[in-house]
Amino acid sequence: MRDWKWQEEAACSGENLVLFFGSDNERQPEKGIRERKAKEICAQCPVRSACLLYAISEPVKYGLWGGMNEDERQAERRRRMRHNIPMAQAPAMAEFKRCRACRRSKPVGEFSRNAKHDDGLSLRCRPCIEKASTPTWARSSTESVA
Ligand code: SF4
Ligand SMILES: [Zn+2]
Repeated sequence: MRDWKWQEEAACSGENLVLFFGSDNERQPEKGIRERKAKEICAQCPVRSACLLYAISEPVKYGLWGGMNEDERQAERRRRMRHNIPMAQAPAMAEFKRCRACRRSKPVGEFSRNAKHDDGLSLRCRPCIEKASTPTWARSSTESVA
């Protein structure tokens, strides 16, 4: 039988479900902002690994689970298939990485590839890289909605 005990410690309990699943007719920019907020909650969640494992192995199609959205989980499933990693294997902490800029521990899917580094990933997470490459004049408008 599946163990649901991890849900008792979920950092998202009490949060609005829309934050994790979105609303009908949600547009891409809104989705990006919403997911960024949800991922911040996941990044602090003590049961993130169990949550992500559940969503990957089930597989759960919709919503943000364990810090990953649908597309990121799909990519993670493909990665597992390529490397013969069982879907039921708990994500190792190696599947999370601390971003050099925001200092948050995030799923490796949030980092771009960079062959220069031993782990083959960028030092900073994608949002931090994007933020750094956005001109200051364009930043305030996106940050005011975030
Ligand atoms: S990892 Fe995210 S979605 Fe999963 S239980 Fe924790 S806060 Fe909720
Ligand atoms: Zn970052």
